[in-house]
Amino acid sequence: MKLGNIEFTEQQFDVVIIGGGGSGLRASLEISKSGLNVGVVSKVFPTRSHTVAAQGGITCAIASADPNDDWRWHMFDTVKGSDYIGDQDAIEYMCSEGPETVFELEHMGLPFSRFENGRIYQRPFGGQSKEYGEGGQAARTCAAADRTGHALLHTLYQANLKAGTNFLNEWFAVDIIKNDSGVVSGISCFDMETGEVSIIKCNAIVLATGGAGQVYEQNTTSLICTGDGLGMVLRKDLPLQDMEMWQFHPTGLYGNGSLMTEGCRGEGGYLVNSEGKRFMPDYAPKAKDLASRDVVSRCIVQEILAGRGCGDKKDHVLLKIDHLGSEAIIKKLPEIREISMTFANVDPIENPIPVVPTCHYMMGGIPTNINGQVITQDSNGNDSIVNGLYSIGEAANVSVHGANRLGGNSLLDLVVFGRAAGKHINEELPEQSSSEVSNTNIEESLETLIRIQETKKGESVFSLRSDMQNVMQNYFGVYRNEDLMKEGIKKLEDITERTKKIHLNDKSGQFNSEKVEVLEYLNLLDIANATAYSALERKESRGAHAREDFPERDDENWLCHSLFFKDKNKVSKRAVNLKPKTVETFKPKPRVY
Ligand SMILES: Cc1cc2nc3c(=O)[nH]c(=O)nc-3n(C[C@H](O)[C@H](O)[C@H](O)COP(=O)(O)OP(=O)(O)OC[C@H]3O[C@@H](n4cnc5c(N)ncnc54)[C@H](O)[C@@H]3O)c2cc1C
Repeated sequence: MKLGNIEFTEQQFDVVIIGGGGSGLRASLEISKSGLNVGVVSKVFPTRSHTVAAQGGITCAIASADPNDDWRWHMFDTVKGSDYIGDQDAIEYMCSEGPETVFELEHMGLPFSRFENGRIYQRPFGGQSKEYGEGGQAARTCAAADRTGHALLHTLYQANLKAGTNFLNEWFAVDIIKNDSGVVSGISCFDMETGEVSIIKCNAIVLATGGAGQVYEQNTTSLICTGDGLGMVLRKDLPLQDMEMWQFHPTGLYGNGSLMTEGCRGEGGYLVNSEGKRFMPDYAPKAKDLASRDVVSRCIVQEILAGRGCGDKKDHVLLKIDHLGSEAIIKKLPEIREISMTFANVDPIENPIPVVPTCHYMMGGIPTNINGQVITQDSNGNDSIVNGLYSIGEAANVSVHGANRLGGNSLLDLVVFGRAAGKHINEELPEQSSSEVSNTNIEESLETLIRIQETKKGESVFSLRSDMQNVMQNYFGVYRNEDLMKEGIKKLEDITERTKKIHLNDKSGQFNSEKVEVLEYLNLLDIANATAYSALERKESRGAHAREDFPERDDENWLCHSLFFKDKNKVSKRAVNLKPKTVETFKPKPRVY
């Protein structure tokens, strides 16, 4: 087929899943097993998705470390961790369905670490408690050493091969196609190896494109975490939810950004300042170094601002694990030791590791219900479902993490809601045989690709991207205030204007990485804007969103989600679901650890 100057092929599946990470592969497995024809489109080989980097584990009340553990305690911790803007029906679903999904993974062959008695190993993580916060620290994170994501992703990939899932590896998805009746009916994409452009028609699309940590200069995420699915949604006039909420992990390796898992502190490690003092007990007397991530990150910044940072620049702190002994470190934290030796020249068996808060996780994303169906809001403020469009994993906002995600809850979110979306699609896949797609629909979905392919001169993506990342780092970081953010927005406006003249230098077809980076950058810039405007709008401090000018949480005005629309950078509010189905509401309380 040919349209204008662009030639393309056509393909057809019942369901297209964009993303071969943990969430995409859990959904594709469920759908493939039911006999539907499913295609997984992934810009990297699936086992190279960011899920592979997850270290610490998957949190779930399987009652291995403590036979009395209860999913309701896990639910309480998660609601509290979210600073009360996580939807309680979704959190209830995740925590109660969790054990079954974890045991499914075990039965598929995921090589979990074990206790002496043979049961799955569980380690303590931040924000975990027993007895609704009254019974002390819980140990609820199931782990395969410090390579849990690696084990999980490979297990799911193999199960998908067995189930007959179709893979389009190293294909880049550009846009969603809606037909003239507004029905979701396919995607535009291209094969990165050859440059071949293709239109894939389908009856349901699942966006499982992962997070967008690359929007910040310092982050723990892979270079591929550019939020492409979020860009696609914004370009279809659909909203993103809670985009002001970004998690800064307290322990990114100083100068490099690699993650030093919370498992280090879970196993007994702790943070010290330049005076060699363990400072967390001063801020969080009960939970100490295992207070939740937003809290620990802010404490580190406080120590640095008070002049107690380490190193020549006094701009980081130290993570001490040497006292755990070499045997424990080699057995339980082997990757941490390797990363720290390779990138910081520090052997943690002997010396503490230099660390600093680093952007780690996107709590916001594409709003969905617990079936993974994408939600939008009409002009009267009512929710409606976008038929045929689903989102899961870090790309989605269902919302179980609210204003702050607890460690180990993302891997659980991937498999619980990946499975739920798969089940829903199996039951309800719209019957309509491949919906009508017109040439205009196709042309629209190829518009950006055609435009960048035809540029003659202009600015390079590389300078634009680094300027954008720098603005996000300095104006929308751990602490925020109105003046700073307004200045940041001005700078983003300027970058957005410059981006209109972006120039693709390399016009070749095969393995054109510059073309991919331009498309990724355009998505990142939309996400930067979504974050900036949502952050300016939320006039309170909650979870990861800490405002110096509004230091208190304001439940009267802000116990709600924010919704960002690309059109006019509009931000509106959406109610939080405070009503779980089987237990009482967990009412908002001050969040102390
Ligand atoms: C270093 C690190 C450690 C972590 N440790 C933990 C942990 O211990 N426990 C925990 O619970 N969470 C952890 N997290 C968070 C968790 O790993 C992620 O949130 C989760 O893995 C995301 O999975 P996903 O399925 O949403 O997407 P990803 O695994 O990020 O996969 C995204 C997929 O989308 C595809 N894709 C994206 N855009 C396109 C496009 N345009 N076209 C085609 N394909 C596309 C990619 O190819 C990829 O296959 C960690 C995160 C990091 C960064």
